[in-house]
Amino acid sequence: MPEMTKVAWDLSDLFGGIDDPAIDKALDDSLARAKAFAERYRGAIDSDNLTAGTLLEAIEELEDMAIPLSKVASYVAQVFFADTSKPEHGALMQHVQERQTEVALELIFFELELMAAKPEIIDRLVRDPVLANYKHFIHASRLFRDHKLPEGEEKILEEKANTGGRAFERLFEESLSALEFKITLDGQEQTLSEPEVLALLRDPKREVRKAAAGSLTQGLVANSRLLTFIFNTLVYDKSIDDRLRRYEYPEQPRNTSNELDRETVETVMDTCVEGYELVARYYRVKRQALGYDKLYHYDRYAPLFESKEEYSFDQAKGIVLESFGRFSSEMSNAAGEFFNKNWIDAEPRKAKRGGAFCISTTPDLHPYVLLSYLNRKEDIMTLAHELGHGVHYSLASRQTLFNFGSVLPIAELASTFGEMLVFQSLVSKSNLEEKLALYAEKIEGIFATVFRQAAMYKFEQELHRGRRELGELTTEQIGEMWQRNIQTMFKDSVELGEEHANWWMYVNHFVESPFYVYAYSFGELLVMALYSMYLREGESFVPRYIELLKTGGACSPEELLGRVGIDIRDPEFWRGGVKVLEGLVADFEKLHAEWKQQRQ
Ligand SMILES: [Zn+2]
Repeated sequence: MPEMTKVAWDLSDLFGGIDDPAIDKALDDSLARAKAFAERYRGAIDSDNLTAGTLLEAIEELEDMAIPLSKVASYVAQVFFADTSKPEHGALMQHVQERQTEVALELIFFELELMAAKPEIIDRLVRDPVLANYKHFIHASRLFRDHKLPEGEEKILEEKANTGGRAFERLFEESLSALEFKITLDGQEQTLSEPEVLALLRDPKREVRKAAAGSLTQGLVANSRLLTFIFNTLVYDKSIDDRLRRYEYPEQPRNTSNELDRETVETVMDTCVEGYELVARYYRVKRQALGYDKLYHYDRYAPLFESKEEYSFDQAKGIVLESFGRFSSEMSNAAGEFFNKNWIDAEPRKAKRGGAFCISTTPDLHPYVLLSYLNRKEDIMTLAHELGHGVHYSLASRQTLFNFGSVLPIAELASTFGEMLVFQSLVSKSNLEEKLALYAEKIEGIFATVFRQAAMYKFEQELHRGRRELGELTTEQIGEMWQRNIQTMFKDSVELGEEHANWWMYVNHFVESPFYVYAYSFGELLVMALYSMYLREGESFVPRYIELLKTGGACSPEELLGRVGIDIRDPEFWRGGVKVLEGLVADFEKLHAEWKQQRQ
């Protein structure tokens, strides 16, 4: 059994410690600079006399000011996440947030003036080559121009949101965390939280999963009046906002912030729906592998085998670098730096934040990765995922700060791709049973991201339109929409029992970020489509892909992909992604047939 890794990150490139005087100096300087900036540019941006030179100077100064502030913010967050138990870490983060707000308040005029500036002036200025680097930034800053209300009305909406929409979101969060799920396991009655009961839906024992499903249902049903009311209220609240802000359809604000047009989003979602057949194909084989007559909603995530194999952190490092390197040395070199220069915090520690993330800091520095490496196979995938993000940021570091990060649908470009490379490499090293388990995990993971999110999107569309046309919806009406849309995805391969009709009630995306879910399908299918290009084109694809990463967030998704010859409006491109999934399902079918034969 390999020992737990002791690998921890070195944050000295940022600051020397939480009492480093450079932290407060950076905050003081930022505030002084922000005040000087406001003095100089207030009234000059939304002005008929604005020149390209002035706008350039202002944006460059703003970007330059944001760099030290980003470093402070990254640093205090990293220190806090590495050890959340120390009160001084939380206090420092709070202190920095408050001081950042002070700076932000000084600068908010810029955003507002840039948004308000006359289109005929801005359109002329952005054609000036001096602004070439900030064309996208200016465009993105003005996306919501047509949906802003007069300042007085904006202020009222903002203030009233605290007792309106935001209050209901908080009520949802608090009600959900207070929910109790009673369950009897091994003759003992227990009370579980929502994450605990959801985790039991992946238990190898069927009776445990079935009991967990029953417990989840009971807990939700006991609160269905409250949760239904919260859903109705927030969906109605959004429809009021949308009407006041002159949106033509419910998905429009989300599409606008994702910089995607309606046709493109619908093309991607339709392609997902076309691919539902794969879900049924996969679950039919899974049913046989599990030896069941029928699959129910509580069997979806049943593990095929219990895996006990362990991998040391060094082994994981070897696997990730080798898989990345087989694709591109530029990618493996960029990932290698994370290990050589101590930019990874992998050690499992008490009071360390759960989950994993990659934090970008600023283009002139380097990103960091945090995870708790527990020697399991899935931890290798997590490492590959986060290092994919890391490589993306490293390669995009030639961009300036405002062009560095990506919008949501593009943000998983390298992480999901990196996982795919590592998956292929793990498969090549595994025996038949391990391969089957690896495929099942990978396929279920991709399905949950691509198809399930698409089915949830279809549900959400009905929910918002239903509320507008029918008025307040009952628990049963919402349940019917939910059940039908999810069942359509499974066709006859999985029977969703009656109780599943209540499982929309705990999905916080529906409450907090309407239509957020489709970005998951979009991002994952995009990577699969790119992966299919790699399989078809081989070596010649590599430099084009690397170019995508290097571009960071310097342009919209459509322009970014257009630069490497991809038309995101073309359904054929997206079908390429579904083809990759079909390949995975076909491989799984073959492996299963072999496995069955071996056991006879
Ligand atoms: Zn990610």
